[in-house]
Amino acid sequence: MTDRVVSALQALVRIPTVSDRDPDRVDTDAFDRLLVELAAQFPLLHARLDLTRVGSHGLLLHWAGASAAKPVVLMAHLDVVPVDTEAPWQHDPFGGEIHESSTGPAIWGRGTLDDKGCVAAICDAVESLLEAGHTPSQDVWLSFGCDEEVSGTAAPEAVAVLRERGVTPWLVLDEGGAIAGGAFPGVQAPLGVIGVTEKGTTSLELVAEGRGGHASTPARNGPTARIARAILRVEKAPFPASAPAPTLELLRRLAPHVPLPLRPLLGRADKVAPVVTRALVAAGPEAAAMTRTTVAATTLSGSPAINVIASTARAGLNVRVMVGDTVAGVVEHIRRAVADDSIRIDVIEAGEPSPVSPMDEPFELLEVCIGEVFPEAVATPYVMMAATDSRHFTAISGHVYRFAPFRMTKAQRQAIHSYDEHLGVADLVDGARWYELLIERLPR
Ligand SMILES: [Zn+2]
Repeated sequence: MTDRVVSALQALVRIPTVSDRDPDRVDTDAFDRLLVELAAQFPLLHARLDLTRVGSHGLLLHWAGASAAKPVVLMAHLDVVPVDTEAPWQHDPFGGEIHESSTGPAIWGRGTLDDKGCVAAICDAVESLLEAGHTPSQDVWLSFGCDEEVSGTAAPEAVAVLRERGVTPWLVLDEGGAIAGGAFPGVQAPLGVIGVTEKGTTSLELVAEGRGGHASTPARNGPTARIARAILRVEKAPFPASAPAPTLELLRRLAPHVPLPLRPLLGRADKVAPVVTRALVAAGPEAAAMTRTTVAATTLSGSPAINVIASTARAGLNVRVMVGDTVAGVVEHIRRAVADDSIRIDVIEAGEPSPVSPMDEPFELLEVCIGEVFPEAVATPYVMMAATDSRHFTAISGHVYRFAPFRMTKAQRQAIHSYDEHLGVADLVDGARWYELLIERLPR
């Protein structure tokens, strides 16, 4: 079993399934080869599970259990982000080679952590259980998207298929959290962070228009000046901060593990939320982002020539909407902050935050499995800052969680979407064992 999951991940990494928003730029042959490779690595899974293609190369697989009352969806994605050829990778990003890392031998390459490691571990768990003649106590669905990194259609299509078949998942589990080492200053134990919600990703554009004209006769207050002023006003009007319930619960669970003087405060985090919120805001941009909606001015455009006054100036705003806020509320906040009726606010992409999944039975099952495979870790809910395909599943399930059962150091987490992405061999094996345990422990 050990050998299979490792060689399977190596083989998957060697096939560069890079997704792209432009379908013409996708190497569909690579995706074809990946599906063939998956079928070769996990023959029983492909023989016994019922397969539906979603999107161009996404897979939705159904494993009938003893009961269909509490169906479970295990998610991962087959696509990866591109590799920056200038980046200083220590090993071939599409080599899937095994080399030493700071925590022992590891498989190196794009997608090891995000997210082919999950694909390999989930498939290996199912294959092992099939070999052992196991029938899950509940229906198990595997949903593997092919365009997660470009917000594609495979996941929404999988949701549509499940809805059509009347499936209301008792538990949906996607990538997101991990067994994260060095995640919190002063805490030695790794955190088993389970995303119970994710911020919404929304893109706005501020647009100012004017006459334009020759740069030798500028008028005051033209489009570029108004856009510049608007950006500064947005920056000076941060969204109100308020640590959401999952963040307060995370701090409360950390209390026994932080240095002694901090314990009483964190232990009562839920009762002293305003104090905790102020402390997080003061602790820097990462901690502050845990407490509120954030706005980053990203793209800027004005005149196409240096001797021409812009007739239109634009600023792109990338907004991460916190649980409790809405896209409409965000637009209203920005409108008030800008305080200039001549500036138009266009909504380019509207992404609401995902509802908070409760910490009841399905969450407790994840905790129990974390406790068995990673006894050193502190399992805790948290708010995810990044978006995952699982957000689409909140339409059919109130129990959507984001957690990959792999140990990840801080350096490994920083390698995601960057360079030197790698996953420890032993960590991959333990991850597969974790999924196996999860399936074995499904309720009757
Ligand atoms: Zn991913």
